[in-house]
Amino acid sequence: MATKKRTGAKSKLTEYRRKRDFTKTREPAGGTDSAASVGARKKRAPALHFVIQKHDASQLHFDFRLELDGVMKSWAVPKGPSFDPSVRRLAMEVEDHPIEYNTFEGTIPQGEYGGGTVMLWDRGTYEAENDGGIEALREGYARGDLKFVLHGERLHGGWVLVRMKRPGRPQWLLIKHRDEYATTRDVVANETTSVATGRTMDDIAAGKKRAASKTANKKATARRSR
Ligand code: MN
Repeated sequence: MATKKRTGAKSKLTEYRRKRDFTKTREPAGGTDSAASVGARKKRAPALHFVIQKHDASQLHFDFRLELDGVMKSWAVPKGPSFDPSVRRLAMEVEDHPIEYNTFEGTIPQGEYGGGTVMLWDRGTYEAENDGGIEALREGYARGDLKFVLHGERLHGGWVLVRMKRPGRPQWLLIKHRDEYATTRDVVANETTSVATGRTMDDIAAGKKRAASKTANKKATARRSR
């Protein structure tokens, strides 16, 4: 297979930047190579990150983002992920986001693109299934059959994103693989706080710095100090 030249993170973020006014939103502009991403590239086998942001915009959805080649590949999942392998969740591919977006939690002003509340709902690292490495991830993404293993705080185990053959913006299905993590437990209903701050959507929308509940706050603090 001919090796296609991969475009840099900067040009991949053109659409992301075009949609946003960075004088009005506190989301990161991205694209200047952060020390972290430069450092990651130098290591032989850098851990790739994933993040899921719960986003209460015009319609509540979960933004599922996988780091690949200097950007966060991004999908909007209206119903969020399911641990049940018999459930297929629609995942609409959206524009690549900057790596710096992985720590964004807060509010986007109303009237701006994506205006509403953003919560860090899960985060961690991920890898190709069966130690396939980055090439397996690139090929899986290009082919529309991306198999990966998540090592998150809430999501674990094997998953697949399958691209559907439909015209227009690519639509995918996010499906849990059958493994020891598969369960019918409703993770979206059960986990309603930030993995970063322990805050609820209401806490974040109200601009509270910390979780209202002391136990949630303690849990978040313990996580941060790990
Ligand atoms: Mn979103």
